[in-house]
Amino acid sequence: MENVVVIGGGPAGCTAALYAARADLNPLVLEGELSKEILPGGQLMTTTEVENFPGFPDGVSGPELCDLMKRQAIKFGARFVSKTAASVDLGSRPFTIQSGNESWQAKAIIIATGATARYMGLESEDRFMNRGVSACATCDGALPRFRNKPVVVVGGGDSAMEEALFLARFASRVHVVHRRDKFRASKIMGDRVIAHEKITVEWNSVVDEVLGNDKDGVTGVRLRDVRTGETRELACTGYFSAIGHKPNTDLFAGILDRDETGYLITKPGSACTNIPGVFAAGDVQDHVYRQAITAAGSGCMAAIDCVRWLEAQET
Ligand code: NAP
Repeated sequence: MENVVVIGGGPAGCTAALYAARADLNPLVLEGELSKEILPGGQLMTTTEVENFPGFPDGVSGPELCDLMKRQAIKFGARFVSKTAASVDLGSRPFTIQSGNESWQAKAIIIATGATARYMGLESEDRFMNRGVSACATCDGALPRFRNKPVVVVGGGDSAMEEALFLARFASRVHVVHRRDKFRASKIMGDRVIAHEKITVEWNSVVDEVLGNDKDGVTGVRLRDVRTGETRELACTGYFSAIGHKPNTDLFAGILDRDETGYLITKPGSACTNIPGVFAAGDVQDHVYRQAITAAGSGCMAAIDCVRWLEAQET
């Protein structure tokens, strides 16, 4: 029987494992098995350079930061296995987690399965991934390739507005490409974007293709006007997808409380879900901040909540 199983090995999972390990819980981390959908280490693994994680004044690559976090958790006794949780039984204690023909029983569970940025699904997005294609302006926006160059942001929600406003600090021009003639974003964010002198909104438009070459990466996009079908090319060095994130919570549908977009709901100021002994940390329960540092912080919260809950069970 495990004291605690952490599902997910990104910044939230690693930090939860570090704190649980230092509390002598000998946590088991199911970090996921590499597949088309799963990247052990999470979204950070696709981030070239992390410049906003405190403690790294010269920046650190996403994969290196993941590796450092994992090593630090292992140093204190956390065990990582490359397994993907396929089903969970949280109906009675101990909880059961299944992966293929293996299963684990646990007194407590910390869920840190993260979220996956959505892309349009264009083949050209894959081709130029990390060479101008990104889904995180906060992570990548300040890179030299985007400075004083035009960039494109796709989407009309709050994420797209935030990405555009952030990118406008660096880029020479930000083109927000939105498929309708009205933003979904909150009025205040939409108004800020519309009023910004460095941002142009390409209304009623979609990106048909990201253009580029092997040497330079992204060099432009082909836009299509959804009303007329007319196409045109727009030069840019960056293509930022901001059409939403999908929290990785399918596993918990009908079991744990989720909001209308699928994010796990935690009790305010804690990592507790609606099932005692089950905690959630990181992007799987956070659609607002979504940073490596906030994920790590909430992983710490989840482990502390978990340690206290386990102690209370024993008294
Ligand atoms: P969202 O609100 O779901 O917006 C997604 C946007 O992408 C929509 O404008 C949608 O167009 C567009 N879109 C979706 N699929 C598309 C496709 N295949 N092709 C072209 N466009 C597509 O997602 P979000 O902006 O990530 O926000 C998610 C939640 O987090 C929201 O509740 C938001 O308010 C919140 N959030 C809050 C803040 C903040 O308060 N600072 C910041 C970020 C996010 P349509 O409008 O036509 O559907």
